[in-house]
Amino acid sequence: MKPQAIYAKIRQHLEGCSFLSANFDNVTEVPLAELEQHLPSYRYAVPVTAATVPRLSGVFDEVCERLKVPRAYVHGFVVPSPEVGACCRHDIKGHAVVEVQSGLVPFFSSCELAQVLGHEIGHFLLPVQPERLADGRPASWEDARISRHAELAMDRIGLVASRDVEVACRMLLKVSVRLPETEYNYDVAAFLEATAVGVAAPAGYIDACAQHPHIPLRLRALLLFAQSDYFHKIIGKKGGAPLAEVNATIAAELDAAVDGYVDAAIRESLTGVGSCLYAHAVVTGAKPQLPAVVASGLPVDPDQAKEMAKNWAALPEDAWVDAYKSDLSAHLQTAVLRCPRTLNQCLELLAEKFEGTGMEAKLIEVREVFAHIVSIVNR
Ligand SMILES: [Zn+2]
Repeated sequence: MKPQAIYAKIRQHLEGCSFLSANFDNVTEVPLAELEQHLPSYRYAVPVTAATVPRLSGVFDEVCERLKVPRAYVHGFVVPSPEVGACCRHDIKGHAVVEVQSGLVPFFSSCELAQVLGHEIGHFLLPVQPERLADGRPASWEDARISRHAELAMDRIGLVASRDVEVACRMLLKVSVRLPETEYNYDVAAFLEATAVGVAAPAGYIDACAQHPHIPLRLRALLLFAQSDYFHKIIGKKGGAPLAEVNATIAAELDAAVDGYVDAAIRESLTGVGSCLYAHAVVTGAKPQLPAVVASGLPVDPDQAKEMAKNWAALPEDAWVDAYKSDLSAHLQTAVLRCPRTLNQCLELLAEKFEGTGMEAKLIEVREVFAHIVSIVNR
């Protein structure tokens, strides 16, 4: 069977694991391919085979079967490390390369390992990847959000692989606590109770930058997903809550935990840029262009614009231009950290509307500052 046909079956099987932006429509290229980029790993890492690492190898077999991925497309390797971690190499295309740190193997039961491997192979099967900085962190808050959606989808694919929500939750807890069972009572309900006060606290910068949603939310999302009709069907059970309802509940919890805060912050940044351009058009007498600023999708706060214009008006000729530039670059800087793509779309739209008007040169200047800030941030 051709990789495309195999992938179509996988997609159909795992479609219900999609969550918000982490969905199969956003996968631009079929991940399965007859490429051989995985082969050098066999020189540099320890391959997982039935003869060498039998228990782990057996888990790989079972997980592939449950995810409907041909075993030959998945390559497991052990990486010597005391850490409890695993990753799926996203720089290797065509076949999945899953690296398991050696500290993880004895720490987990086979069913817990299935949850880990399912999650990692999920990153290969549903490769919704945010843009990243050189050090691997998401390039902006927009990207971190994509990453969080993807991680929730991967936990679901993990659950399709482990088939046991208690085990899945326990694995997540174990990886975040890392104490032996003699020292820690791995009780999910007790953990959720102990963390409730933190969950109820307002979201902030750390939440917005995080690649993974916090653990209590991941546990809640898994517990809710396990009640869906989609998951019930996977494990051969009847009934369950409609998946769309389950997704809406989880999205609302995610909104309260972080996405709502991110949306408001992004709006604030865009409003800063919009108001700044608006104030500039007012001050320079380019009033006919004001509706174009508003129509670009850049929100404008008239009071904020008025305040800026008033401050600049109080300065002598040269100084006001500097003040405008400094205000603009401050707003652009936060927008680059938070929402570079949305801002870019707005500026593109604005460029069309400003073509041939007095604001065209001004906008080119704005886009140059924007591109400069992006290049500094991404360096
Ligand atoms: Zn992950």
